[in-house]
Amino acid sequence: MDAVERAARNKLAERGVKSEDIADLVYFLQKKYHPNLKIEECLANVDRVLSKREVQNAILTGIHLDMAAEKGILDEPLQSIIETDESLYGVDEVMAFSIVNIYGSIGFTNYGYIDKEKPGILSFLNDKSTGMCHTFLDDIVGAIAAAASSRLAHRARNTE
Ligand code: MG
Repeated sequence: MDAVERAARNKLAERGVKSEDIADLVYFLQKKYHPNLKIEECLANVDRVLSKREVQNAILTGIHLDMAAEKGILDEPLQSIIETDESLYGVDEVMAFSIVNIYGSIGFTNYGYIDKEKPGILSFLNDKSTGMCHTFLDDIVGAIAAAASSRLAHRARNTE
C-alpha cells in the first residue's frame, strides 16, 4: 500500500467511517437483486474501490476541505458555504460523480437512491448536531458505496 492510499484510508477512519460501514450501504443497495449476497462480498468490493487512485484523491481533498471548514480557516464566502452545507453549492456532488463514473452509469441510479434514503453511516454524516462538517464526505461515502454496488452487479452478471 503506498502513502496516498494509506493516508486516504486513515483519514476515513479518523472521520468515523469504517469500510464495514460502507459495505453495509452496498448490502442495503444490492440485497434485493442478490438474495444470497454476503456482507464479505460487499466489503471486498468496497476495498477494491478504495484501492483506486481517483477515489483516494477525492477522499483526501474532500476531507481536507471539511476539516478546514471546521477550523474556520477557509476564505469567505467559501467558509460559510461549506460550513453550512449550502444546498446550491454542488461541488461536493461533482466530486462524488468522479467516483461513481469509474464503474459506469448504473452507479448514478444507486448514488441518487442512497443520497435520498441516507441509511446507516450516511445519517451520522448528515447529523449537524455532531459539530463536525461532512459537506464533502457524505457524498464521497455514498459514491464509494454506489461504485462498489456497480462493481458487484457487473461481476455478478458475468458469473451468473
Ligand atoms: Mg454534501
